[in-house]
Amino acid sequence: MRLVMRFVARVACAALTLALLPRVGATQSGLSDADRRLARDIFRELIEINTTDSLGNTPRAARAMARRLVAAGFPAADVQVLIGPDPRHGNLVARYRAPGPAGRRMPLRPVLVFAHLDVVPARRADWSVDPFTFLEKDGYFYGRGTTDDKVGDAILVADFIRLKRAGYRPTRDLILVLTGDEETAGSCIQWLVTAHRDLINAEFALNTDAGGGILRDGKPVTFEVQASEKVYATYVLEATDRGATAPCRGRRTIPSTASPVPSTAWRRFRSPSS
Ligand SMILES: [Zn+2]
Repeated sequence: MRLVMRFVARVACAALTLALLPRVGATQSGLSDADRRLARDIFRELIEINTTDSLGNTPRAARAMARRLVAAGFPAADVQVLIGPDPRHGNLVARYRAPGPAGRRMPLRPVLVFAHLDVVPARRADWSVDPFTFLEKDGYFYGRGTTDDKVGDAILVADFIRLKRAGYRPTRDLILVLTGDEETAGSCIQWLVTAHRDLINAEFALNTDAGGGILRDGKPVTFEVQASEKVYATYVLEATDRGATAPCRGRRTIPSTASPVPSTAWRRFRSPSS
């Protein structure tokens, strides 16, 4: 399952990348060696920053990614490391600005892409290799977060950098958001939405952490779309009938509404995603 998920995550990100790619020649057919090295290097750097929630290292990871974006030419004002909602959590919000509206009456609203910087704990004793030492072996990457979701962080940061270097001019702003506690409270994204809404307002958002496609022998097999996660949905079930009378002695009328759903089934119904 882990291997499948890794593959899924990669393909998901590749699909996202394709969706955003400009027509910049070689990028249509594949990455250059330099671009591959860049993505791998970002990936390695992130894996080796242990961002398990208890250590409070997401600010460090956010700063590391911010440094790379600024070094690639993004104005510092457009690359913000936002510490919050408490000092132990760091988030990155970077904006790839489109040129002015140039005759358009209304500029298009931005597209937001995001991933998360934190990882769930990994005990060395449970792993055959050090989970926080980046390792490439037999065609696979090993390390906590290689699938969830530092591959997403790395691809998005690498894409922003290579698009910038290629001189790409998006038709609308692109916003990159890397959050600090998706695996635990999810407070970072809530805080960004409430305290920094102006920075992340967008037409829609694409999350590298869910959905995605599967290739088998290079051929597309499935592409999944996931609409939500870590939330429950409540449904209200209402049943009505015209009422009936039991055809036996001791007649009584069955109420016009009834709820004979066992409580266990009801709980499952209320929380399909739990
Ligand atoms: Zn995740």
